[in-house]
Amino acid sequence: MTENSDGAFIEFKNVSKNYKNIRALENISFMVEKGDIFGYIGPNGSGKTTTIKIIVGLIQDFEGEVLIRSKRVRKIRKDIHKILGYLPQEAGFQRWRTVSGILNTFGMLSGLPRNTLKKRIQDILELVGLEDVKNKKITHLSGGMVQKLRLAQALLHKPELLILDEPLSGLDPTSRYQVKKIIKELADEGKTIFLSSHILSDVQNIATRIGILNHGKIMKVGRPKDLQRDFKVGNDLEIIFSEGSKQCNDLDKVPGVESIEIINTNKLIAHLSPNSNIDECINTILAKILEQKCYIRNFNLLEPSLEEVYLKYVGGNIK
Ligand code: ADP
Repeated sequence: MTENSDGAFIEFKNVSKNYKNIRALENISFMVEKGDIFGYIGPNGSGKTTTIKIIVGLIQDFEGEVLIRSKRVRKIRKDIHKILGYLPQEAGFQRWRTVSGILNTFGMLSGLPRNTLKKRIQDILELVGLEDVKNKKITHLSGGMVQKLRLAQALLHKPELLILDEPLSGLDPTSRYQVKKIIKELADEGKTIFLSSHILSDVQNIATRIGILNHGKIMKVGRPKDLQRDFKVGNDLEIIFSEGSKQCNDLDKVPGVESIEIINTNKLIAHLSPNSNIDECINTILAKILEQKCYIRNFNLLEPSLEEVYLKYVGGNIK
């Protein structure tokens, strides 16, 4: 790992974890910087929850070292809840209780002063958009509302670090959008967020950095744009011809062109060899097109999608 550990909020150093004969994590190293929305993605069973339980101190029998703000997580386990808000994958509320009643109980359990708790609950309900249902019982809430309440609970004591285990799982598209928006707003306020999912689109557009996990191993960590760029540097050139332009021949003979894929009568993709001089190759292609008096409407060096990057690293292992 070439990353500099200065400014790391969470740091995993060569961490492995076995459950009897199951190797859940295999020598993983990565860091989460202060202010990151770190999207931790991988298929079901790849080790995301195990990683999270190590961060929040629920699993201690692991190999390697985990530091939170440069302190060993094993040592600060008792105090960690002060800086950390945790949304576990599954945690139900008693269905007969009300939204504000639940937050009140959790607030008191976290030791929040009684005189400020009421105001804090009001603020947090506004933040997650639950103020209209504060007196409703859990049994009358939608899945999206319950998830927002769980988020509110994790946020009640104003933690700097939020650890969210599959926070969008099971939500309808509107609730997904709303919860993602809240997560983004929390990051804008300066919170550091670690968010896991087995679905790339859950973290896409909000993650500042992404870690891809597969079979207990970290396959790749980086900013979304860097992951795309490292994966394949635009080796596919899309060429769109004007309506009625005549057919262009011999593009496959241009040095550096591996093959030509005809998409339809107006569109083709030239697959360029990664070892070729891409600029020179593109110029020769254009010269050949002009020479044959074909008309181009558009041409574009295609970037791989993040989806392609994810699929490359997890292969067919997506559940
Ligand atoms: P994810 O969160 O990505 O779905 P987990 O961390 O839950 O992955 O699981 C990683 C691997 O460890 C899986 O093979 C899972 O079956 C196994 N595992 C998780 N928890 C336990 C446990 N308490 N006992 C035995 N095996 C477990």
